[in-house]
Amino acid sequence: MLAFDSMTLADKLQSLKAEALASFQTADSSKALYDKKVHYLGKSGVFTEVMKEMGSLSKEERPQFGKLVNEVKVVLEAAYAEAEQALKKQEIDAQMLSEEIDLSLPSYPLQIGSEHPVHRVINEIAGIMGRLGYSLRQGPLIEKDYYNFEALNIPADHPARDMQDTFFIDKTHVLRTHTSPIQIHSLESEKPPLRIIGTGPVFRCDSDISHLPNFHQIEGMCVDTKVSMADLKGTISFFVKEFFGSGLKTRFRPSFFPFTEPSAEVDCTCPICKGKGCSLCKQSGWIEIGGCGLINPKVFQHAHVEYPKWQGFAFGFGIERMAIIKYGIDDIRLIPENDMRFVRQFEV
Ligand SMILES: [Zn+2]
Repeated sequence: MLAFDSMTLADKLQSLKAEALASFQTADSSKALYDKKVHYLGKSGVFTEVMKEMGSLSKEERPQFGKLVNEVKVVLEAAYAEAEQALKKQEIDAQMLSEEIDLSLPSYPLQIGSEHPVHRVINEIAGIMGRLGYSLRQGPLIEKDYYNFEALNIPADHPARDMQDTFFIDKTHVLRTHTSPIQIHSLESEKPPLRIIGTGPVFRCDSDISHLPNFHQIEGMCVDTKVSMADLKGTISFFVKEFFGSGLKTRFRPSFFPFTEPSAEVDCTCPICKGKGCSLCKQSGWIEIGGCGLINPKVFQHAHVEYPKWQGFAFGFGIERMAIIKYGIDDIRLIPENDMRFVRQFEV
């Protein structure tokens, strides 16, 4: 027990201790508890006020009273820590209960993508031609004027160079207007015999219901010691049957391309109506799918390939056009829009 005489001050201290302990017990939140701690033990709290009264004690009593105050403080700090821990646990439990996630709820259905019709057509054509020994090549999208035009026997005054058709980067560079420059790159860097497929995006200053400013082409080139129109016709006929379906016929119509001689437009039996006539083939039963011909000797000359030791044929198709014909798409502009409702129709 206290040895000093001032029992009133010690009693006051004990009474305050009991009061503080009771008040910690009744706090209903950690915030309220903290406020109570500040009230009793804070810098300007109740116990600080009591300490000020130490001046009324004798010199001998003071250290003992100071010790007692410290003991009370230790008890209160411990009581506070215990009460705080209990309250915080209660609060966290309550919060978790209110934010509980129902793991049994079904999730949103996963949006599964599908192969875009452009890539589907490219992969399918590359697969068919691969069986004939053709392998895939790609080339730069920005081409030198030389590769896009001159090496392909398109002279400076040719209408294809018109500003309305070609995106010029500068005086000597263009966005390639066709995939045919790939042929020149191949002829320059590889040794014949060659069987290659070139594919990728091409660009033209042109946009309406049947033309896109950015579309895709695929073309094939065969270079060997003895190549004829008959080889070309056989290759195209095989391709048409594999790609659009067996029983379809192929016909060549004479045409003109600067890089082939002779040249032909390729038609095949309309795959939609099987030749009976429909809106896609404008009731003719035939549909144009691309162009082809024997490689013009001038192209070989530009690429420094010896002619007639080496001869060749080339053919080209528009990928979007092939997709339209194969899948019966009625507006070419649907293809680059990438609307999922459209693309999802091509799920394998
Ligand atoms: Zn038709």
